[in-house]
Amino acid sequence: MSGKPYTERVRSVPSVVPWVLAGGVGLGLATTPRACSRPEEGARNAIVFIGDGVDDHQLTIARNYLLGANGAFSFEDFPYRAAARVLTVLESDPRAPEYVGDSASGGTALAAGIITSRGRIATEAGTGRSVPTMLELAAAAGKRTAIVTTSSITDATPASFVAHINRRFCQGPGDMGPTPTDPRCPEALKANGGLGSIAEQIAASDVDLLLGGGYRHFDQLDEAGVSVVRRAQDAGYRIVRDTAGLDAAADEPGKLMGLFGDDTLPVAWVGEDDGRARSVEFTADGAVIDPEPFRCVDNPAFGNRPTLEAMTAVALERLEAAPDGFVLMVESASIDKQAHQGRPCGQIGETRALDQAVRVAASFQERHPDTLILVASDHGHSAQIIPWPSLFASRPEPQYPPGKVARVRTLEGGVMTVSYGTNANYQEEHTGTQVPVFARGPGAAAVHGLIRQSDLFDIVRRALALN
Ligand SMILES: [Zn+2]
Repeated sequence: MSGKPYTERVRSVPSVVPWVLAGGVGLGLATTPRACSRPEEGARNAIVFIGDGVDDHQLTIARNYLLGANGAFSFEDFPYRAAARVLTVLESDPRAPEYVGDSASGGTALAAGIITSRGRIATEAGTGRSVPTMLELAAAAGKRTAIVTTSSITDATPASFVAHINRRFCQGPGDMGPTPTDPRCPEALKANGGLGSIAEQIAASDVDLLLGGGYRHFDQLDEAGVSVVRRAQDAGYRIVRDTAGLDAAADEPGKLMGLFGDDTLPVAWVGEDDGRARSVEFTADGAVIDPEPFRCVDNPAFGNRPTLEAMTAVALERLEAAPDGFVLMVESASIDKQAHQGRPCGQIGETRALDQAVRVAASFQERHPDTLILVASDHGHSAQIIPWPSLFASRPEPQYPPGKVARVRTLEGGVMTVSYGTNANYQEEHTGTQVPVFARGPGAAAVHGLIRQSDLFDIVRRALALN
């Protein structure tokens, strides 16, 4: 467990980009961001981070654990910050609001600048019309493009930047057929004039670099009986599957695809003794039993895979020489996936991974100030910090939360109680809150106040002068 050194490292790294200081902005906390705008300075590069399922509550949980209640993640010191509305519409009536989004609708808002329905990947609600993504616009303008994620590279967030399909679950050619609960994607079959599954679309894409998980979606045969791995190789991708392979490919030019697991990559941290939120238990006479607090520990299943930080560093090393700049999307995916399972340590470790990856980008930007960095989110999630014991514990009847509870012993020595109460019988659910956005670099001044997720697409497009 590496919490203490991490805390020290966090405090030792400078977090203010020089040209911002040169403009007299300082940290921007006491100044109206718009007044500091320098629109004459366009960006050459854009790095878009997505913390999947990150809202202020999920961030606060991780911050409390890692940095203490008075701490701040690197991106929380960025000079510009906004709250983004998570706007989603009903597939059955695209004029009507849906108040809780998912990674497909949120990813599409960020990647393609449209408000769509849940499950859709860069396609319009109702019509299914494809909408160009910021990576496609960047490639058309001669920029290099890259995706780094801890999920399958075919999962909803990365897919939203590179593919166009009506259902997020159609990740490989073997995932296209109907299930008892989902019609899947008959219209996307090539035999029906479609673009094929997400993996097939990635294999045929212009994206220069993709690093993440999801090998099993590429190890499937397409409609012509050819594996998607083969299709990707034929299209010029070198495919690596472990850290040694990634290292060996470091100096090789050309397109690169790193698939470091069959599916979502294992998370960095787990809780001691399974570390999962549980329903409250009671003594024989009906009194509430305090759940035993636990700490977060390294997950042995992570193995020697590249971390999100390492993958981000590899991506930036390869992109640094891009003659006309680049757009890179980096996702910490399992903040969401661990919240679905009621695992606070998984969430905390993956938020730490996000912060470490952002630090790599911030350091890159100090050498390349013409780089816009955004740290965004696709939707809110389920975990909440609640008081323990209850504020109403002196009442005669037992006072306890109706959902599941985990008590986590933080690195600063406190005990934080985290409650999950969004679903009684299956996984925890997304929630409908607005989400935070942090920004620095040219174009970042537009990130302030209350915006929409889809505005971030326009902010990147304007900063990079993409058409
Ligand atoms: Zn989710």
